[in-house]
Amino acid sequence: MQYQLNQKLADLVPYDPIQGTYQIRLDANESYISLPGELRRQIGEAVAALPLNRYPDPLSQKVNEAFAAYYGLNPDCITSGNGSDELISIITSCFLESDDTIVTLEHDFSMYAFYSSLYELKVEVCPKRQDLTIDVDRLIAFCKETHAKAVVFSNPCNPTSLGLGRTEIRRLLNALDCLVILDEAYMDFWDQSMLPELSAYDNCIILKTCSKALGLAGIRLGFAVAGKTITRALRAAKSPYNTDMIAQTIGTILLQQPDYLHACTAQITERAKQLYRGITQLQSKYPNILEQVYNSRTNFVYVRTSYDAQLYQMLLDASIAIRRFRGFLRICTGSSEENAALLEALTQSLQTLSAKEESL
Ligand SMILES: *Cc1c(COP(=O)(O)O)cnc(C)c1O
Repeated sequence: MQYQLNQKLADLVPYDPIQGTYQIRLDANESYISLPGELRRQIGEAVAALPLNRYPDPLSQKVNEAFAAYYGLNPDCITSGNGSDELISIITSCFLESDDTIVTLEHDFSMYAFYSSLYELKVEVCPKRQDLTIDVDRLIAFCKETHAKAVVFSNPCNPTSLGLGRTEIRRLLNALDCLVILDEAYMDFWDQSMLPELSAYDNCIILKTCSKALGLAGIRLGFAVAGKTITRALRAAKSPYNTDMIAQTIGTILLQQPDYLHACTAQITERAKQLYRGITQLQSKYPNILEQVYNSRTNFVYVRTSYDAQLYQMLLDASIAIRRFRGFLRICTGSSEENAALLEALTQSLQTLSAKEESL
């Protein structure tokens, strides 16, 4: 007899976004800034002194306090997670019951629908406008029509890089009484966060991560911010030691460096703007290939192109990894040098492609 996986597991494949090693990695929306020596030394000393034979603080109070101080929040409304990814998993598995409806949007972060399906929720996908912006009235109506128990989306959005302003978010929150999960993974790069006014909404969870602007994708640390009732439930439902001692320690040290973090965020934002300008210039030169460049509120640029497969491969051949979606490319900002190399390789690829086109 051979063990039979159930149907929902049988078709799954392990997450492995990219095979091979490439000189320049612009595919995962990470920060390109590596930690300076002084902070590395401080972290090294702190980690060496940890009592690793003991379990970590299950409520991760120190790092919650550091996170709260950095964003000007009350630590009582914070739950830490093993990346915000784990928090998405906890929320979708515990706040809804099987066959409940959760609304996601398209295009948006794929993990929402992934976990929701795994937990046997009904996933209803609300389309975005043709230009990939969110139509709030349509979304409100959609949630009501589908009797949604929850709606989840990223703002600014991965992968579109577009943002929905606060006025619109308020309108959405005021119109819905289901759970609203606002993933602000990229909000450090924009200024429309709902964190300052979250206490006005008892049905909203805001997700944050240390993986993007804060430059700590390697330690797996994310946070859920919500009111008292939801926070209590989240803390009760998570596994007790979900964030380990090393992540808590490194997260605390970093979050206690607001000047450093603000400087990094400002620099990344500036590099992303440079990248956006560079790609926009190429778009005006090759409009038949790069059909549209979206207005970026994030650390990456989203491009519509029917040549996604060719351009993706040509850049890989130049040892530059970006992210490909059907009909689109997502390019994360690197350092100035990395962006220059990307733009150079992209220019050459576009020249080659357009020469091919003309010879047809
Ligand atoms: C990267 C990303 C996350 C994942 O963050 P982790 O804390 O690394 O798990 C969550 N949401 C969105 C929209 C992201 O792009």
